[in-house]
Amino acid sequence: MNPETRLFIDGELVDAASGKTYPNINPATEEMMGEVADAGPEDMEKAIAAARRAFDKTDWSTNHAFRHHCLQQLQEGLLAVQDEFKQQISAETGAPMGICGGSGPQCEVPISFIDFTLENLPKFEWSRDIGIAEPLGQRSRRLVEKEAIGVVAAVTPWNVPLQINLAKCIPALAAGCTLVLKAAPDTPWSATMLGRVIKEHTDIPAGVFNVITASDPAEVGDQLVGDPRVDMVSFTGSTTVGKHIMARASETVKKVFLELGGKSANIMLDDADFSTSLLSCLAVCFHAGQGCAILTRLLVPKARQPEAEELLKTYFGFIQYGDPSAEDQIMGPVVNKRQYERVLAYIEKGKAEGARLLLGGGKPAHLDKGYYIEPTVFVDVSNDMTIAREEIFGPVLCVISFDDDDDAVRIANDSVFGLSGGVYSADEERALAVARRLRTGTLIVNGGNYYSADAPFGGYKQSGIGREMGPEGFEEYLETKTIAIGA
Ligand code: NAD
Repeated sequence: MNPETRLFIDGELVDAASGKTYPNINPATEEMMGEVADAGPEDMEKAIAAARRAFDKTDWSTNHAFRHHCLQQLQEGLLAVQDEFKQQISAETGAPMGICGGSGPQCEVPISFIDFTLENLPKFEWSRDIGIAEPLGQRSRRLVEKEAIGVVAAVTPWNVPLQINLAKCIPALAAGCTLVLKAAPDTPWSATMLGRVIKEHTDIPAGVFNVITASDPAEVGDQLVGDPRVDMVSFTGSTTVGKHIMARASETVKKVFLELGGKSANIMLDDADFSTSLLSCLAVCFHAGQGCAILTRLLVPKARQPEAEELLKTYFGFIQYGDPSAEDQIMGPVVNKRQYERVLAYIEKGKAEGARLLLGGGKPAHLDKGYYIEPTVFVDVSNDMTIAREEIFGPVLCVISFDDDDDAVRIANDSVFGLSGGVYSADEERALAVARRLRTGTLIVNGGNYYSADAPFGGYKQSGIGREMGPEGFEEYLETKTIAIGA
């Protein structure tokens, strides 16, 4: 399957108006795999105009049965390409095939998540009769109606690009919105392929769905989120860009839905079985640490830190990493040179601020090409160090010790982020009690997993506003209208 290199605007697969393209670089080889259209303001203008027109002038937003039919076609179209699509996703993200196929989150699983929408859309209550009342002496029959919010700007990152593109676009389309998807510059094909599948496999009307790729990370994205014809911004990415988008969207009072960064804590209570629970720390190498909800701060009781260190040394020795196209690797490279340099700079900062490097900390000796970073563990980290406060987005674990449960909760909550967290204990009730005190949007207790189509995901504090997936992830894309009829 050739990658799709064109934009998708107003129902057509098109080159950028300027004719410009930019290279898509494979982070494992540092070589160019192919090209993609490099959109500019003229292309974005057309995409926004098309999405606005499709929302205002077609029955897309009100024809619920037709949308269900189109989403079914979209899922079928994605299933038809998924085997080759996952290879493209692996190549452009650097994520190993092991997490791009099967039960991994990069391709097959998010495509299967569309089932949740297909099952629930027909059952959704679009209009609710709340009965007759006599407010201010005026007898009224009241209806509460839900309707699509309008034109959505979906702005997405590179780490799990298809999953995040779908987590935004599927509920937005199901709700009756029209969209402009602005993909991350590093993972354009995960978005452009959606345009091709929609064009070739579905009856989705022209203008309902538009895809823009551009080499400049900000230019056309900024244009999109500031445009008065856009009703809502659905953004996943860094907290820094999220803040900018929120400010930009405020100029036209758009709704913003933000999925941002994290610095989540994994708490081992003093009665936890470390031989099993510390295995959870290997997740810091999942996709080379490029996951917003990865538990990057490990909190261990002071008295048990030496035991934790010995086990971490053993367990991190199991990590196989290298060529992402091989099935048996757990970890590939980070996505690009900038990210590679950024992660290495954080590692240097950790050393400079006095953390002790237990494992890793540099470029692996056995891999001379590609943006690979050794699985890295810092111990004797204090929660005020830069590596404990800022999101590194690389395979770096920070081990912080605590005195008792209260101290663990204090440290975990002492963060501007609040995306995820974990608690391990021999006593489930005790773990649950600690979990309930953590100010985060998702929690793992004794090895559970919340990642699923029916479970809302999102953050507290500077990790975001709103929830993706689950019924909440659908309702983000709706407006509420109350109608009072004189009775
Ligand atoms: P980023 O914030 O740099 O970019 C995200 C998207 O925003 C990209 O498409 C980029 O081109 C675009 N963008 C950049 N500047 C813009 C501007 N001024 N106006 C409009 N759009 C702009 O993030 P990234 O480096 O691509 O991804 C990594 C970040 O994403 C991490 O911080 C990670 O935690 C976060 N993330 C969060 C979640 C979540 O669900 N909470 C999931 C995945 C990634």
